[in-house]
Amino acid sequence: MTMLVLFPVIIPITFTIGYFEERQKRKIAERFSCTKCGNILGAISIDLADAEQHKFMQRLLHENPGIRIRPATRTVYAVCSNCKTKFTYLKEDMLFDIASDNSPIE
Ligand SMILES: [Zn+2]
Repeated sequence: MTMLVLFPVIIPITFTIGYFEERQKRKIAERFSCTKCGNILGAISIDLADAEQHKFMQRLLHENPGIRIRPATRTVYAVCSNCKTKFTYLKEDMLFDIASDNSPIE
């Protein structure tokens, strides 16, 4: 019952937090240098990571028709547009770090 009452409140709050976190991540990327090549990551690195995540999910759905796929824990939030190094985002520390999965992007 409490959840039903709070539902209309929780959803907008969740979206608002998500919006501000996304904006903050992009702002940090605008001044974060790639630790491998020194290139500024910038918004394009976030877009590259989002595009790769989208491709990954599409491939999973295509290879597993009819199976419900739960979103896997995402580890890559930025990809250097120059050297293609993958970065994870450390929200609490507000910085990027080289991702554990650094297989080449397709
Ligand atoms: Zn780089």
